[in-house]
Amino acid sequence: MERLQKILAQAGIASRRKCEELILAGKVEVNGETVSVLGTKADPEQDIITVEGKPIRNETKIYVMLNKPKGVITSAKDPAGRKIVTDYVKGIKERIYPVGRLDYDTEGLLLLTNDGEFANMLTHPKHHVPKTYLATVEGIPHGSDLDKLRAGIQLEDGMTSPAEVEYKDIDVDKNEAVITITIHEGRNRQVRRMFDAISHKVIRLKRVSFGDLQLQNLKRGLYRHLTKNEVEALK
Ligand code: URA
Repeated sequence: MERLQKILAQAGIASRRKCEELILAGKVEVNGETVSVLGTKADPEQDIITVEGKPIRNETKIYVMLNKPKGVITSAKDPAGRKIVTDYVKGIKERIYPVGRLDYDTEGLLLLTNDGEFANMLTHPKHHVPKTYLATVEGIPHGSDLDKLRAGIQLEDGMTSPAEVEYKDIDVDKNEAVITITIHEGRNRQVRRMFDAISHKVIRLKRVSFGDLQLQNLKRGLYRHLTKNEVEALK
């Protein structure tokens, strides 16, 4: 037996808080009876649980990592008909959706799952999952510029938390550098804006790790299932 809000969240209905609201609003039934008391327990395998009349299905939990190509939208739908990340996981019959997002022009490691609670936990600001990117930038930043990123830099939505930043490659002929940067937040276009703040435009951005997960040699546009250990390590 498990608490109803936990069962609903695990079935991907919504975050645990939103599920509590659904229960309190009298929208959840267990075996035909409305349950509006928080903390009520049910059996996720045996009981018939519905939300607004629709049965929740306890689907197999799916966790995959995709090497997202650039020029693809991180969304499960695009009304304008552009390429979306779920086009790359067509072999999976469960409805999975991205955990957080990568910009249209960013490539690299993107998680997709149907485990709502897992996705909510990883994207919650208090969770601070470290994310590492390779940023190819115009010009060659000085060490003192990188120190500013390491210290935390002022953006229009506030100071960033300290980042780990290292040179990966410097191409004097092309006047470009590749910088490895690890951030612990997930604000909109954060890495691009951090480099803008030190006057180096990002020309290519690739996420190579998310928590303990590494993209490694997964080919662009392909996905793989996470192992049980990889899923546990993220929790
Ligand atoms: N930072 C960015 O600027 N873009 C991304 O897609 C991810 C992190």
